[in-house]
Amino acid sequence: MTKNDRLVSLVRPATSANGRLRNGGDGAAIDIEIEPDPGTGTSQWFHFGIDAPSGTRIRIVNSAKTTYPRGWPGSIVWTRSPGNAWQPVVSRWVDGTVEFTHQTTGAPAFYALFPPYPPDRLDLLLQRLRSRSDVDMTAGDTDSAIASRIRIGDRDPTARQIWIIAAQHGGEHPTMWFADGFLDALLKPGTPLYGIRFHIVPVANPDGMKAGHLRTNAAGQDPNRHWADPSGCREVDTLLAAMASTGVDFLLDVHTDFELGCVYLDVLDDWLGTPVDLVAIRQRFERQLADRSPDVAFGTRYPWQAPPSADLLAGMCAPAVERRFGAAAVTLELPIGRYRDAAGAEHNWTPKHAHALGRIAAAILLEGVWGSAEG
Ligand SMILES: [Zn+2]
Repeated sequence: MTKNDRLVSLVRPATSANGRLRNGGDGAAIDIEIEPDPGTGTSQWFHFGIDAPSGTRIRIVNSAKTTYPRGWPGSIVWTRSPGNAWQPVVSRWVDGTVEFTHQTTGAPAFYALFPPYPPDRLDLLLQRLRSRSDVDMTAGDTDSAIASRIRIGDRDPTARQIWIIAAQHGGEHPTMWFADGFLDALLKPGTPLYGIRFHIVPVANPDGMKAGHLRTNAAGQDPNRHWADPSGCREVDTLLAAMASTGVDFLLDVHTDFELGCVYLDVLDDWLGTPVDLVAIRQRFERQLADRSPDVAFGTRYPWQAPPSADLLAGMCAPAVERRFGAAAVTLELPIGRYRDAAGAEHNWTPKHAHALGRIAAAILLEGVWGSAEG
């Protein structure tokens, strides 16, 4: 062991950890590799701690080989030093490698692509919900790949059934903050929940999230490719069975886009042949989002270069739910790192932004987007 080896150590966080030390021995730089997901080999999410002299450069040496390399140039990363909150740091993109400077001495500082959603925060939220008479809960279990599911509102089976699914992909921490904000809005005292029942899944892929994967569950499956035939994908199997028992009137499936740098709806109407009444419901939802949030520009879309394959369409959550339940089904994508707001101005996307958008989405659905025919 050299002198410098002893000065540098990698600290693995208790949850959502990703990043292995490839080389920390030259004293000036530490080389980290992002670990690929089992099964698919996808990668982008990282979360690790470093104990090293201040001023040491940290390089993510395989960043050009991750799944979304165009997401790195100009991106922020987040750091938390002992006793402090997560702070954004602008990274440098040097010869195809993300790098930033370690500025803490004496205790490990943590680095992540986004402030990880703390599991104990979800536990506290669930505790808050237990005191309500209109709430039923399925407790999550990462060992058996069951996601926590919260039912809140009118238990009358004729009530409108609204499903909110976040974090099908393990590294989509912005979506967990969104779900947190959504629940927060529903729990506001005096919020009427008549004729409407929400089914909220804040972390749809709990074992993938815990394991620090970008997309897959612990078994190496991408849940958002298993909605046509969930057999063997426990998370999706459980959710589809629950949906079949309640029905679905509206679905909001929330994801993170690691490249595009804006909030948008991924709309697949042309290939799905979405009925006009469902298009109208989605448009009312999007219009309200754009009217109420400075982060949402109406009509921003993913630039599909070619039609998605029939298998891809069938395997994704929103198309599958639209087809099976005749529900208005929306895929909402949140940015990570740098993003442009509705007016085109650049900002950092933060947990606060995702939380605020979740609150706005809840308020819109509480007021209704169903159209005059349905009251
Ligand atoms: Zn996703």
